[in-house]
Amino acid sequence: MTEPTIFHKILSNEIPAAVVYEDDEVLAFKDIHPKATTHLLFIPKHFIASIADVTPETAHLPGMLILKAQKFAAEQGIAGYKLTFHVGEGGGQEVMYLHLHFLSEETLKAGK
Ligand code: 5GP
Repeated sequence: MTEPTIFHKILSNEIPAAVVYEDDEVLAFKDIHPKATTHLLFIPKHFIASIADVTPETAHLPGMLILKAQKFAAEQGIAGYKLTFHVGEGGGQEVMYLHLHFLSEETLKAGK
């Protein structure tokens, strides 16, 4: 068992996060150091460390995150956004828990 990451702790409510969306499969919260007007992180509830670790058994997870981000954006009326996976230290990945960056210069609806 590897050490729990900061995102494990957010998922288990050990440390707080500004959650904007949650369902059985995914949690989405605001990045603590936003690099855009809206900067969210979508993580699967099923842990894998990185895109580098995706196997045929877990290949649905990145697509699932993209689908959730797409649906969330539509609900929020956000038309333009960037989706990014950082892969490995050389790819800028600091937290070894799979996450999809959602960046937009559009704002979330009030209350989010
Ligand atoms: P990475 O560079 O691994 O792709 O992205 C990790 C992201 O997690 C960074 O953009 C960083 O700002 C964000 N982050 C790191 N620690 C925390 C935290 O404790 N809470 C939140 N909400 N975001 C965090």
